[in-house]
Amino acid sequence: MSVSNVDLSAPCDHVEQAQIRRVKRPARGCEDCLKIGGQWVHLRACLTCGHVSCCDSSPNRHATKHFQTTRHPIVTSVEVGEDWTWCYIDEQFLST
Ligand SMILES: [Zn+2]
Ligand SMILES: [Zn+2]
Ligand SMILES: [Zn+2]
Repeated sequence: MSVSNVDLSAPCDHVEQAQIRRVKRPARGCEDCLKIGGQWVHLRACLTCGHVSCCDSSPNRHATKHFQTTRHPIVTSVEVGEDWTWCYIDEQFLST
């Protein structure tokens, strides 16, 4: 289990409030799907609180729900081989 630094090539105004965390790749699973026995396609991690949830290709779209309920703006992929970061408020990638 490796812990990666999040590398932002184009940080936005919300990065400071997110207090960017290190993330683990790969993640164990969507925390919300694990609770309800759901399935996920890809995993995202919230950089504000570390919450791991599933992407918009997954049936439950927990990453988007997490943003809508918490207003935590920045997520990163925790898929192996992916290291992009996304801001929900700006709707733009902060790194590639
Ligand atoms: Zn932003
Ligand atoms: Zn989920
Ligand atoms: Zn969060």
